[in-house]
Amino acid sequence: MDSAALPTLLERALASDRLHSGYLLSGSRDATRAIALAFARASVCERGHVCEECAGCRRSGPKEEITIDGTGKRGPLFRQIGDHPDLFWVERGEDDTRVRIGQVRALQTALRLQSGEGGRRIAIIADAEWLNVESQNALLRLLEEPPPKTALVLVTSSAAGLLATVRSRCQRVKLPAEAHDPLAEPEAAAWVGRFENVGRTSVADLLDWAEEFRGARALAAAQLEAWLELATAWLRRRVAERVSEGGGVRGELDAARTLSDCRQALVQRNANPQMTAERALLALQAGVR
Ligand SMILES: [Zn+2]
Repeated sequence: MDSAALPTLLERALASDRLHSGYLLSGSRDATRAIALAFARASVCERGHVCEECAGCRRSGPKEEITIDGTGKRGPLFRQIGDHPDLFWVERGEDDTRVRIGQVRALQTALRLQSGEGGRRIAIIADAEWLNVESQNALLRLLEEPPPKTALVLVTSSAAGLLATVRSRCQRVKLPAEAHDPLAEPEAAAWVGRFENVGRTSVADLLDWAEEFRGARALAAAQLEAWLELATAWLRRRVAERVSEGGGVRGELDAARTLSDCRQALVQRNANPQMTAERALLALQAGVR
């Protein structure tokens, strides 16, 4: 992968050799991941900018990718970047809905050990919006008592889902919003299948669906926010399709307005995620019937 241009804050941290213990990178999935990777690689480059020629760059460069498994059964709990011993990458396992506490603990243990090369170490936690509260608290301990010369980089498309205590320990790097299609994200397919059937789903099943957003509020709210974004994108696509077929779209537009209200209630007024999901689902159903 080409190295992405680093935001100034990260570039300066490397140039002055003053790493903060935590960074919170938010923006679209691909862009934030590319920047986190470039930052980690630049931190071990002898020339400080991913020259692709020095020993550090050769070690951190692309290698055959190892699939992470959150249970540790079918793969490791985290991986190195390239095969560099000082660069760590954590993300959700392929079939997992969250980053598991075991993964954070394994990272913690690895970081407590002596640095492999005696230099800087960077640990990237991709999919940070999918950390549950327990995992976030484990991370918090790392942020409060960071091992020497170590930076954690939390990568997220929605910083709102992280605990305030975690956010406040990190320097924020917010990437400019860019057009991205949430329906193209790998986890979207299963949801889109359910949206397609929403008009034929019984109310009891809709309420069951809303129950998936029960539990620790921060996590449930982040997941519902992602869900609402997806549902809105799906509605938008449906409107475009129906308009091109000459069909009416009044119901869809009403539903889109309700979803937007739901998002506001969730983010600005701390509405209960499960109840907000019920309202959103009933509106979605009414809109497409
Ligand atoms: Zn280099």
